[in-house]
This record gives sequence, structure tokens and C-alpha cells, in this order.
Amino acid sequence: MDLQSIVAEIAAEMADRPDRGEVATYIPQLARVDPARFGLAVALPDGTVHAAGDADLPFSVQSISKVFTLAIALGRFGDDLWMRVGREPSGQPFNSILQLETERGRPRNPFINAGAIVVTDAILAGHQPRELLGEILQFVRSAAGDEEIHINKSVAASEEATGHRNRALAEFIAAHDNLIHEPDYVLGTYFHQCAIDMTCRQLARAGLFLTNAEGTPSLVGPARVRRINALMMTCGHYDASGDFAYRVGLPGKSGVGGGILMVVPRRAAIAVWSPGLNAAGNSHLGTVAAEILTRRTGWSVFG
Ligand code: GLN
Repeated sequence: MDLQSIVAEIAAEMADRPDRGEVATYIPQLARVDPARFGLAVALPDGTVHAAGDADLPFSVQSISKVFTLAIALGRFGDDLWMRVGREPSGQPFNSILQLETERGRPRNPFINAGAIVVTDAILAGHQPRELLGEILQFVRSAAGDEEIHINKSVAASEEATGHRNRALAEFIAAHDNLIHEPDYVLGTYFHQCAIDMTCRQLARAGLFLTNAEGTPSLVGPARVRRINALMMTCGHYDASGDFAYRVGLPGKSGVGGGILMVVPRRAAIAVWSPGLNAAGNSHLGTVAAEILTRRTGWSVFG
């Protein structure tokens, strides 16, 4: 069966499923998103995009933004970044504070909130928050080849008003001397980067630079791309990263807005969106759809 039919069929199957998970409520703006939404887009290196369902509706990318800030940070600091943040899976929820205490303020990896806050702090050096946010947007827009990608200010404000847990993480990291800037200054930037809105079509295209396929934007060198993929595979779904690797078999990064970005090295980038989350805070139907898609296409990094 051709790819467009597979994508359309999965979107149709997902539209009818009653089990849709729970929409995140700790960011009030996200609680208002319709759980019936489902979008899927597969971008190929030649620029073709196969899309279905709500693939052209913007959603909040949230933690998927951590892939782009990590790419910027590695570009700027190279391996020095690893002095401030680790690269091991945490086996803990995305917003956990537990390990920060025993590991003295050095977060396990750049994809849990604590680690992403450190990454944002690192790339803020020498920039005003507005400039850095402009740079992050520019990175994402060039990756996607689409200028119509923006920050949703009401989502950022909504998280800023309720971000007690992230504030606790940032203060804790600062207490261990692992933040250069004031916690609130870093968090303001972090909340805005998380509040980037993208459609599945835009996100899939923005993921093409991670495929290392010829003809895709070369924003990061090939060796670094492999490493970002390794981190997506081992840490991209928090304490469900093992389950995602087992079920889907591709590097992926989820966000609490219900999006997942996945990479099929040299072949495709995939974005799926369904706002209802599973117990680990990853899109429930997004994961189900990814599992079906990889089964039907035979795509896997495991052979
Ligand atoms: N902005 C969200 C937070 O910091 C991102 C979390 C996520 O997408 N898992 O809580």
C-alpha cells in the first residue's frame, strides 16, 4: 500500500477510537484543547509530505522544542554542554525533582524539564531572551522551510502563571550553582520556547534535518544528528522511553501538548498529534498511531 493511503487510513482509524487519554490540565490553556483532534504527517527528504486528519491545525509543541534548543546548544558549546547536563535516561517523570537532589543539580538529560532548563540557560548567554527566542524560531522556521511558525503568547502566559514545579526545579539547579542566569529569567524564555505552535505538517518538515538524508537542511553536522537521535531514543519519552523504543522503534520526542516528532534515519520525519496523554505524559493515540505506522511501513532503526 502507498504511504498516503497508510497515513489516511491510520487517521481514519484514530478518529473512531474511544480511548483518547487525558488532556494535560496543569497548563490551563492546554486543558482547553479538543481531545478529538488527531493529525499525522510524514515528510520525505524530497519535500513530499503525506498528511491526514488535523495535520494542518497548529498545536503547542511544548517539550518537542527541547530537540531544537539542544541542537542550538550543541552547535554553540559542543561537548562542553555535558559538563552541565547528563545524557542518561532518568526513569522518572518529565518534571521530577528527585534526582536533582542526589545528583547535585546536574540534570540527567536535556529532555527532562530540569535538563531543558539548563540548556536554555546555556544558550541565553550573551543574548536577551527576545533575541534567543528569535533565534530558536529562526532555527525551526529554516528547518521547516516555513516562516509561519510563531509563539503562542497565551500558552506561555498560562504556563508562567502556573509553573510552580518548573520554578522549583530552576531554583534547585541554581542552588547547586548550575544556572548562569536568574531562575525566573531562564523560565520566562523556557515557557515561551515550549509555547511554539506548529502543525503536524510543519513539525514533520522541521524534523527532516534529523534524518541525515541528502537534500535536507543541514543545520547540524551528521555526527551530531546521530547523537540527538540517540538521546531522543533513550530519553525522548521520559520514563516511557523504553516502551516507546519497544513499540515504535524510532527516535522520538514527545510534548505535553500531545505531539510526537519521530525520525526514520535517511528516510522520513514523522509528526503525530493527539492531545490526550497516557500516564507517562506522552500522547496516547499518537503512540498507538506511531506503532501502527511503523508496523505497516516496516520502518525501524532496529532492522
Ligand atoms: N512546558 C512543559 C513543562 O515544562 C513541557 C513539558 C512537556 O511537554 N512534557 O512542564
